Amino acid sequence: MDIKVANLHFTYPTGVEALRGIELKVPAQSRVAIVGANGSGKTTLVKHFNGLLRPTTGTIHIGDWKTSDYRLSQLARRVGYVFQNPDEQLFKPSVRQELTFGPTNLGFSSEQIQARVDQALELLELKHLAEEHPADCSFPWRKRIAFASVVSMDTPIIVLDEPTTGQDARSVRLFGHVVDTLHQAGKTVIAISHDIEFVADHFDRVVVMYQGQVLLDGTPAEVFQQEDLLERSLVHPPQLARLAHRLQLGQVVTNPEDFIEALAN
Ligand code: ADP
Repeated sequence: MDIKVANLHFTYPTGVEALRGIELKVPAQSRVAIVGANGSGKTTLVKHFNGLLRPTTGTIHIGDWKTSDYRLSQLARRVGYVFQNPDEQLFKPSVRQELTFGPTNLGFSSEQIQARVDQALELLELKHLAEEHPADCSFPWRKRIAFASVVSMDTPIIVLDEPTTGQDARSVRLFGHVVDTLHQAGKTVIAISHDIEFVADHFDRVVVMYQGQVLLDGTPAEVFQQEDLLERSLVHPPQLARLAHRLQLGQVVTNPEDFIEALAN
């Protein structure tokens, strides 16, 4: 399911003009990373996709739905949103109930709910915590539970706000694997992230925000070449990409295998 954002402006009641004319098209089954300095408007933008925020002016389409014509509960069928802070979305007394809540609200049958919950527990490696109270789990695990509670809703679009913050290397690898698995299952995954290696490894497209506007939009290779613009937006390309640029290898590489190959050529 595709997303179309046209001339989106958003001003907070405080007068902060957080989005200034965003144009963005996200085709179905995309993996899009949104990067940029703190305060550049990333979270404000993605909160428009599921109706948590509504445009001051401009429009957003999720498939054939214009978001302003739909309620939050309807948009939840199409867009799942994983908050940066898991405590904004966890409120049930067990992990299993947390994962059951979303698909139940969407009206799935009990067999479908069971299957979705089991899949999400398996994918996020949470089976051993299924009967635990989320509040008894550490922050990184609560983030993982929040992620799973959105995966269990099985929406065509999943938005992740800073998924890897506070996660150890093993969890970051697992989250990357989950992004790839969701993508292979036909979903669109959009992630706000400061973790540029995670972005380079798991996303096909990078959107760089700067002061409420889209500054750059392209493949990781295209975007990571724009060192001057990235510096302005306080984004640091992956180390290997920078090194390849310095060595004038003539291509942008983000993994060691490609780097060695480029060096050899
Ligand atoms: P990012 O996600 O890139 O860090 P945000 O979308 O959170 O950026 O913020 C964009 C701008 O909107 C910033 O200037 C921020 O201070 C402001 N802002 C964010 N949330 C609110 C809010 N609830 N009320 C007023 N201003 C806000």
